[in-house]
Amino acid sequence: MKKINFSAGPSILPQQTIEETAKAILDFNSSTLSLMEVSHRGKDFIAVMDETIALFKELLNVPAGYSVIFLGGGASLQFCMVPFNLLEKKAAYLNTGTWASKAEKEAKLFGEVVEVASSKPDNFTYIPKDYTIPADADYFHITTNNTIFGTEIHTDIDSPVPLVADMSSDIFSRVIDVSKYALIYGGAQKNLAPAGLTFVVIKDEILGKVSRQIPTMLNYQTHIDNGSMFNTPPVVPIYAAMQTLRWLKAKGGVPAMEKLNKEKAALLYNEIDRNPLFIGTAAKEDRSLMNVCFVMSEGYKELEADFLKFASSKGLDGLKGHRSVGGFRASIYNAMPLEGVQALVDAMQEFEKNNAK
Ligand code: PLP
Repeated sequence: MKKINFSAGPSILPQQTIEETAKAILDFNSSTLSLMEVSHRGKDFIAVMDETIALFKELLNVPAGYSVIFLGGGASLQFCMVPFNLLEKKAAYLNTGTWASKAEKEAKLFGEVVEVASSKPDNFTYIPKDYTIPADADYFHITTNNTIFGTEIHTDIDSPVPLVADMSSDIFSRVIDVSKYALIYGGAQKNLAPAGLTFVVIKDEILGKVSRQIPTMLNYQTHIDNGSMFNTPPVVPIYAAMQTLRWLKAKGGVPAMEKLNKEKAALLYNEIDRNPLFIGTAAKEDRSLMNVCFVMSEGYKELEADFLKFASSKGLDGLKGHRSVGGFRASIYNAMPLEGVQALVDAMQEFEKNNAK
């Protein structure tokens, strides 16, 4: 029996994505060639790229005037590509976690950075809300979901300056108003595809405003002008992304996924709040729908390793928390079925029966 995968990323993907990509790796479009062997400039792969971008735009409701591009280099390369392309004098950053801090650090190489607020002194357990975005900043950068700490910005922020968001771990998990963002980026290896693919959604008019020279490969305009084919794109992850987007569309799109994600998260958070053995680490109003972080409560701390072992014996995989939080992290991305979360809740209840003092 396949284990239930609660890993933070790379993470669970729809079975359809895995099976269809495996088929195409063996025989792409009945060509007798592998997807790994075919030219990215051949008509069959161009059709894959076109469909992937079209579905991405359709499912995220991307308005006119925006481009969707696929790159390599992970979300981490975007930490420097964003300021390279957008920071002329000053940028504002909201520091809500490890990835947000890393993004902010890169921006400092390019100009003045204003950290509008930070929850670092509280180990990033909440999303700061009381801050002012400088009206003269070139952009304001946020991380909408903090994969490590299990906090999430649940609304689309109104920003007086172009809003840039790292949505690596919550893209396609809830309905967003893309028009409120100037740029959205993320690594695909959570809700979309295997690692190796980065998505960027850009409002075209924000480009071309900085005075510095931008190396060709790091210039967003290069990739827009070349339809994400300036260099050889990661063909296998793009094919997998197309399959995930087809799956998402068949499931009812992002609104249906958001409803299910809320149901799954409520099921698990309710159990964490009810079960005397466990306690959540994130502020309740900022709890992530994607990464659920919790620890053993006072009096049960010594049972952490035992619970992990118990969960593993039930086929629940990847629950160990990140070292900066400890305890457990259940990543319940789009592809996680409600039954997977129920299996975890059942395990928590059985563990409680066996161990409650
Ligand atoms: N941003 C967030 C929110 C992440 O969760 C991660 C990875 O987990 C990253 C950035 C870094 O992504 P990559 O490994 O693709 O560079």
